[in-house]
Parts: sequence; C-alpha cells; structure tokens
Amino acid sequence: MAAEAEFNLVELFWSAQGEGPLVGRSMLFLRFGGCDLRCGWCDTPGTWRPTRECRFETAPGTGLFVTAANPISSARLVEAIGALAPKSGTFISLTGGEPLLQPKAVNAAAGIARDFGLRVVLETHGLAVTALTEVIENIDFVSMDWKLESDVRRAEEDREGKGDSRPFAELHADFLARVSQAAIDSCVKVVITQNTTVDELDEVCRVLAATSPDVPLILQPVTPFGKVREQPSAELLLQYLRRCDEKLADVRLIPQTHRVYGAL
Ligand code: SF4
Repeated sequence: MAAEAEFNLVELFWSAQGEGPLVGRSMLFLRFGGCDLRCGWCDTPGTWRPTRECRFETAPGTGLFVTAANPISSARLVEAIGALAPKSGTFISLTGGEPLLQPKAVNAAAGIARDFGLRVVLETHGLAVTALTEVIENIDFVSMDWKLESDVRRAEEDREGKGDSRPFAELHADFLARVSQAAIDSCVKVVITQNTTVDELDEVCRVLAATSPDVPLILQPVTPFGKVREQPSAELLLQYLRRCDEKLADVRLIPQTHRVYGAL
C-alpha cells in the first residue's frame, strides 16, 4: 500500500524511452517540478521551478492532457496513472526537474507505481546522496547523469547555503557507491558537448572503475536545443568512445532517439 503524500508535478505521459540502455521501451514519464541545477543543454527548463499546475495525458500516446492544480494528492495520481492503463511490468520513469528534491513524494509515487505492477526508474542528476538513501529501496533502476562542471552550474538560489556544495565528481562518487551497495540495476549517462574535456571523461572512468565497474556508461551527444547550436563531430565522439572503452567494461554511444521522430 503506497504512502500518502503531496506531489509537485509538471506532467505525466506515456511514450517510448528515448535515451540510455532502456531506449525504445514503452514507458510512463512522471515529471517532478523543481531543479537545483542549470545544465547548459537542458531541454526541460519548464521544470526548473515548481509549477502551479501539472498536466496528465488522458490516454497513452494521444498528446491530449487535462490539467490539475499542484500539489497533487496520492488519490489524484492513482487516478491519472490508471487513465493510462499501463500493462504490468511496464516501466515508469520518475524524472524532472530533479525528483530527489521531493524524496517523500518519490517514495509515494514508487509505491503507487508498484501497486500497478510497474517497474520504477529513477532519472536523477546524481548529486542528492541523502535523498537517494531515503528512496532507494523503492527503486528498480537508477539512471544517473554525471554532471560535468564545464557545462553545468548550480542554480543561483541553491548557492546560498542549501544543498551539498562539494564538487560534482565527489558527490557522484558517493552516489554511485550507495547505488552499488543497494545492488540495483543502473547506468551512468554523460552528455557530451563541445566543452567536454578528456580530463573530465577520464575522471568519470576512474570513479566508475573504482565504484561500479560493471555499470554501463552512456556517452550521449548533446542534442542542439536553446542556446546549444552545435554537436561534437562524429570523429570526436568515436575517439571518446575508444578512450572510455579502454578503461571500462561497458561503454555505449547513444544519441537521444525521441528527437528523431519528434516525440516528447
Ligand atoms: S538536472 Fe535535468 S532538469 Fe535540471 S537543469 Fe539539468 S537537465 Fe535540466
């Protein structure tokens, strides 16, 4: 039985997973409102701050939505997931924004999802180690972004003493160690841009080799969006693949696929 909670959500919809090792899978996406980072290539800036309303797709794949005022109750979320009639065993992605800014709501959403027989994927920036510890028992798959300092900064409002201000790499190492301890399936994704350096990639490989040598590392070329106009060349991406491949067991170069056919 799922715990009662209040949720600040942006949207719930059904689509195909467009990224990472679960690419192509039928999936529900539950997007949480609020994020404490500002990635230069973020394609969901509408999630950076909690929204007054969220939208629920009324039937899978229709693109038709109804709106509801935040905060959303557990009962309303049950109703919204039920409207999408998910098959048991389907994945649901708890994504954002950053879902781990609302750990109690993540636990409640995971409980509701499991009551529907769904498998719970957590998509996270991989920096909120304490919040991860609070939710990890209710998660089936962790998709952790590795944030590179060359492209990602903390939100202004988060620099004033809130959150853990250690370098991203240190926090990612702690986060990965916690995931590894819990022995749940996971992957690490790095978005590759023109700013990415080999030193940054070498550090990712070094930490992964030490904490989680079997976890797949996904190199994801940035998709041009907003201020990002250019992608790294194929030659450079393949060089990076070879470089990481020499250090880790499972490295994959996977672009965002949903952008190809124009899905959400
Ligand atoms: S962590 Fe996610 S939601 Fe937040 S700025 Fe980065 S890409 Fe956007």
